Amino acid sequence: MREFTLIRARSAQEAVQAMAAHPQARLMAGGTTLYDLMKLGVERPPAIVDINGVDELGAFDTSGARELVFGSLARMSDVAADARLVRDYPALSESLWRAASQQLRNMASLGGNVLQRTRCAYFRGGEPFACNKRAPGSGCAALEGIDRGHALLGTSPHCIATYPGDFAVALVAFDAVVDVLGPGGVRTIPVEALHRLPGERPDIETTLAPGEIITRIRVPATKLGRASTYHKIRDRESYAFALGSAAVALTVSGGKVEQARIALGGVATKPWRARQAEQGLVGRALTLETALAAGFAAFMDARPGHHNAFRIELGARTVAEALMTAAQRT
Ligand SMILES: Cc1cc2nc3c(=O)[nH]c(=O)nc-3n(C[C@H](O)[C@H](O)[C@H](O)COP(=O)(O)OP(=O)(O)OC[C@H]3O[C@@H](n4cnc5c(N)ncnc54)[C@H](O)[C@@H]3O)c2cc1C
Ligand code: SF4
Repeated sequence: MREFTLIRARSAQEAVQAMAAHPQARLMAGGTTLYDLMKLGVERPPAIVDINGVDELGAFDTSGARELVFGSLARMSDVAADARLVRDYPALSESLWRAASQQLRNMASLGGNVLQRTRCAYFRGGEPFACNKRAPGSGCAALEGIDRGHALLGTSPHCIATYPGDFAVALVAFDAVVDVLGPGGVRTIPVEALHRLPGERPDIETTLAPGEIITRIRVPATKLGRASTYHKIRDRESYAFALGSAAVALTVSGGKVEQARIALGGVATKPWRARQAEQGLVGRALTLETALAAGFAAFMDARPGHHNAFRIELGARTVAEALMTAAQRT
């Protein structure tokens, strides 16, 4: 590993100042992704700003009548086990439980989870492989390589890397926002607008401005929370990223769907909200048939590559299964 300067921030403001003083610095929360990428040589920051001593970022409160508030440094395992979340927003809790391992969840933060980078093997593999995300303009080895785990939605001719996280998918289903602090002050970004499509610049992954840090994640309180779930299909039942996942939520009135939320994970270049599929369910009774129709509608724009077409049906069935589970919770 290369040498780097370690700066321990004691407040969010101090972290922002340190980032401004070291423009190539990386923020470190749990470090479970950042150190990984540094060991692989994919990330080579000359300075690291450690926020683990910033208590104000670690708290969370799920008791509010209007919104749930999570400090960006709140640990995944603490939030996953929160009694109100488990009862009233199971999709949020399940998306955390089904990520990584208990040891990782104990260390990893919500902010770091949301901002984790792709697991594309060509990106992580380093210099032997062309990768526009790691080395802009070098090409994309995945386009003619093994793309079994690559994205079906939101791809570009420059990058087909999947966004790998689970929690952000559930956040997108619930219209969550992040509060960020930077040299320009405080602003709020919908989680759906936080991750960028790859377009011509897959190396620019988020809409955060240089030096901005996430301080809080806020989820509007909603009656959609109770009948919600996060389903995740993977090669093995733990310690694996999604081949396809779905965060869904429902309200049902008089036997008909009143509101539906569907967000997809593991299949797109960013957490993916499937609004057309949601609309198709409104006013209809939820049956296996209508649930499957919604599942396939969510993948209407899918563009498979060489080895990943099987994940269209897998993804559609994951959505359908999740909807049927959510319906049992209404
Ligand atoms: C073997 C393995 C399996 C895994 N499986 C899954 C899985 O199934 N599902 C899943 O979702 N995740 C999975 N993960 C990823 C894991 O959840 C992430 O590593 C973790 O959530 C990152 O959190 P962290 O606090 O350690 O982030 P860090 O490693 O500290 O940071 C990650 C990135 O976010 C930035 N960052 C962190 N906090 C902030 C902030 N407040 N503001 C701005 N930038 C910030 C950092 O600069 C860095 O670029 C897995 C990881 C491993 C190693
Ligand atoms: S898919 Fe994206 S991350 Fe993977 S090699 Fe291509 S450009 Fe790099």
